[in-house]
Amino acid sequence: MFPDFDYAARLDRARMLMTERGIDVLMLSVGADLPYFSGYEAMPLERLTMLVVPRDGSATMVVPRLEAPRVQLRGDAFVVRAWDETEDPIEIAANLVGTRSTAALGDPTWSVFLLGLQQRLAHTSFVSATGLTRELRMRKEPEEVRWLRAAAEATDRVVARLDGQRFSGRTERELSRLVADMTLEEGHDLASFGIVASGPNAASPHHEAGDRVIGVGETIVVDFGGRLRGYCSDTTRTFHTGTPSGPVADAFSVLEAAQAAARAAVAPGVSAEAVDRAARRMITDAGYGDRFIHRTGHGIGLEVHEHPYVVEGNRLPLEPGMAFSIEPGIYEPGSFGMRIEDIVVCGDAGVDELNRSPRRLHLVD
Ligand code: ZN
Ligand code: ZN
Ligand code: ZN
Repeated sequence: MFPDFDYAARLDRARMLMTERGIDVLMLSVGADLPYFSGYEAMPLERLTMLVVPRDGSATMVVPRLEAPRVQLRGDAFVVRAWDETEDPIEIAANLVGTRSTAALGDPTWSVFLLGLQQRLAHTSFVSATGLTRELRMRKEPEEVRWLRAAAEATDRVVARLDGQRFSGRTERELSRLVADMTLEEGHDLASFGIVASGPNAASPHHEAGDRVIGVGETIVVDFGGRLRGYCSDTTRTFHTGTPSGPVADAFSVLEAAQAAARAAVAPGVSAEAVDRAARRMITDAGYGDRFIHRTGHGIGLEVHEHPYVVEGNRLPLEPGMAFSIEPGIYEPGSFGMRIEDIVVCGDAGVDELNRSPRRLHLVD
């Protein structure tokens, strides 16, 4: 499923960071760090899968015997140690750690595994691996940007197809299912989510599509995405049935300008929070400040939400290869909601826009 990246080179870069930070061994289980370094994604089950990466030795993938056929060997990046049902995988992993004193453990690792490791490795201290892995994962390789772009382009084609659809008279759920089908038809391996929020429901940013029948004269927020060869898409467009009212049209023109301002702010050296401010200032100046109730964006890659977060307080300077969403919204409780979301990449000079479908208010029947 995952593309054929140079996983050995990624592990070597991780080892360099481990040396800098005094980490002796990296241990990755469920979650996105594992496929990032191995091309293999563990099922979130009670049987332990763990990639053990000593700073000073070769990496070993500890994997249940029955899952081992799914592990693709990626050059000499790691060896596979399949364990049988009667073996204790915690002991196998602990033996690979040996007397090393500092281990960085993947954040989503189940606590039951950490507790078992701590019991057997009394002299090893455990720290979170994210501080290390995000340094690599948030700076996308050109090949990763290609997959993110392919995923974004597929969702743009879905938006174009939605323009020809009748919204009024159909339920949110029906449209959500349609969006998921189209996302798969356009090349995704998985349709992960499909928010369809109509009328007053649109004021709830993560509304779950339900049985509400869409009427005429309503905004409909459609926020959807999935995975293509492991890479995530995430885009939002706002649709409208009938003629927009004055307040809706006014708010939308503010939103459009704010989203464009945030995109234009993206450049190497600019802080993540400055991108948030670019959108927020415009929305606040127009009087909708308290109606923009979430951060401007989040990083994206193997996970739909990852570093860097585009939020006040994040002073991280953007660098070429960083990929994230820009998704300001305006939410009027009890009445309407609207959001425009694109995935962008920080390029060498400025923004590289992966989503390019029209950002205007999409008028539909
Ligand atoms: Zn969201
Ligand atoms: Zn979204
Ligand atoms: Zn998003």
